[in-house]
Amino acid sequence: MLIDKRLLDLITTHARRWIGVAVLLGWLIVILNVVQIALIGGAVDQVFQVIPPPKWLLPVFLGIIALRAAATWVARLASHKAAEQTKLSLRERLYGHILKLGPGYLGGERTGALVNTAVEGIENLEVYFGLYLPQLVLGLTIPILLVIFITTLDWLSALVLLFSQPLIPLSLGVIQRQFRAASNRFWASANKLSAQFLDSLQGLTTLKMFTRSQAQGEAIQAQTEELRQDTMRILAVNQVSLFFIDWVSTLGTTVVAVGMAAWRLDSGVLSFGEALTLVLLSVELARPLMLLGSFFHAGVSGIAAAQRIFSILEIEPAVKGSPQATEPEGFKPEIQFEAVDFAYVEEQENPKKQRPALHKLNMSIQPGETVALVGPSGAGKSTAINLLYRFFDPQGGEIRLSSIPLKTLPLDWLRAQIALVAQDTYLFFGTVAENLRLAKPDASQSELETAARAAHIHEFIAALPEGYQTQVGERGLTLSGGQAQRIAIARALLKDAPIVVLDEATSHVDAENEAAIQEAIERLTADKTVIIIAHRLSTIRDADRILVMADGQVIETGTHAALIAQNGPYARLVSAQRVVT
Ligand code: ATP
Repeated sequence: MLIDKRLLDLITTHARRWIGVAVLLGWLIVILNVVQIALIGGAVDQVFQVIPPPKWLLPVFLGIIALRAAATWVARLASHKAAEQTKLSLRERLYGHILKLGPGYLGGERTGALVNTAVEGIENLEVYFGLYLPQLVLGLTIPILLVIFITTLDWLSALVLLFSQPLIPLSLGVIQRQFRAASNRFWASANKLSAQFLDSLQGLTTLKMFTRSQAQGEAIQAQTEELRQDTMRILAVNQVSLFFIDWVSTLGTTVVAVGMAAWRLDSGVLSFGEALTLVLLSVELARPLMLLGSFFHAGVSGIAAAQRIFSILEIEPAVKGSPQATEPEGFKPEIQFEAVDFAYVEEQENPKKQRPALHKLNMSIQPGETVALVGPSGAGKSTAINLLYRFFDPQGGEIRLSSIPLKTLPLDWLRAQIALVAQDTYLFFGTVAENLRLAKPDASQSELETAARAAHIHEFIAALPEGYQTQVGERGLTLSGGQAQRIAIARALLKDAPIVVLDEATSHVDAENEAAIQEAIERLTADKTVIIIAHRLSTIRDADRILVMADGQVIETGTHAALIAQNGPYARLVSAQRVVT
């Protein structure tokens, strides 16, 4: 049957209790039904014997109906609670794990597909935990309970009905394979559509620029059609199986029960009332398994969605913090890369497929030094920073901070030592103040303002309709590139880390903004160890040292003047840029 041990392990103790309550109430409902049926049977016999029904019969009947309604309501509530709690804990676990996997993992994933798995996939487990699991327990236990009861009427009928029961589980077993295949296909299509849709939204400007929006729209339509077909396939399998199950249960149970009842009545073993009780009980006998059949599709679909969730949960983070790591004493912001080798894993499923990025990279940066990394695109500049942040660990060589191997430092502490002003500043949906406080959650308003002033952004924020409480969009769309960048600088100022990394910090910015940003950066980097990744070589002339990278190695080192005099790769890069600009 459809039980996934990993899914069962997800059920919290609290949720287990709620499932227990739902099962207990399910039993209570069946017992009430049995009592009701027994009363009907007894009353029918009394009618045949021309005995008037007792006065208490009607109130007891009504009482049973009311109690059954209340039990059904509470059972549904309990199932829902169990499902909600389990989904919540799974969501927390999945999100926590994705955070641990970090940007290294996200780089290789389609965001839309991941969002679909995390939102829709988990939502799909509602029916699995809330309906399918409790019904599975009921489906396996209630028939036994009823058969025991029927034995008290007629052991032979009980035996025959007992043997007609496994037909439904057997038929479910037969159909399960088709269900699984259809569900897996459905999830793959749904994930693909989500990914494609998000891709189109995020790339809308590019699509419009290249007048490709129509073509993309058609691609989405084709994917939607694929999803429709997969959904129809699931529905078809579901309908066929439900029809089959209904027939099997009707033929296997009710018809058998009617036949047995007629025969045993004829042979004088059962009274008319008892024969009627037997037929009515056979309906109760078939019901739990029939219901299980109707939730079966949800069960399979839940398991198919869970497989994707588990495949994410099973991925080992590329980087793990060491539990024994302690913060170093006498820390110096000195960085050393020693013969560092690194290649990106291109496919999670196929770790052997790698793209080399760094080859025996050696570099060292002294405390307080400003070093610029330059080199052609793909030379490995950003990769070196990714490794410094420990988004990935190198496959060979060693990186040290303050002469201590990175691997032996606490991860959070390490990341707290580096402030990054990236090419692309991400502003979360929230107020300007909230976005600034990402760098220092307990920063006071005056600290925010000091940082914003130093970053030349305070006047702009103060002039916004609600000042620091103004909402900025999901991707900071309401701010210009230069303004978003100055917010990033203010964040870095608040973080006040001893090492500052500037990644293309003055790209895509107009001249006026550039002067303001340059000044803000000077404030940010005063007395710090600074690494600048710059394409525009004019911005790094004053760096203490320039490291020229190519093919994952440092091929030239020196000041701007020395490197120009050397007339090597750096001088060629500079003259190439002069030609272009
Ligand atoms: P740019 O100046 O264009 O940003 P870069 O010097 O910073 O280039 P890196 O981004 O470090 O270069 O890239 C080094 C190599 O690693 C390139 O061949 C690049 O294609 C590859 N690479 C970078 N990021 C990834 C990734 N997430 N997955 C696979 N390969 C990657």
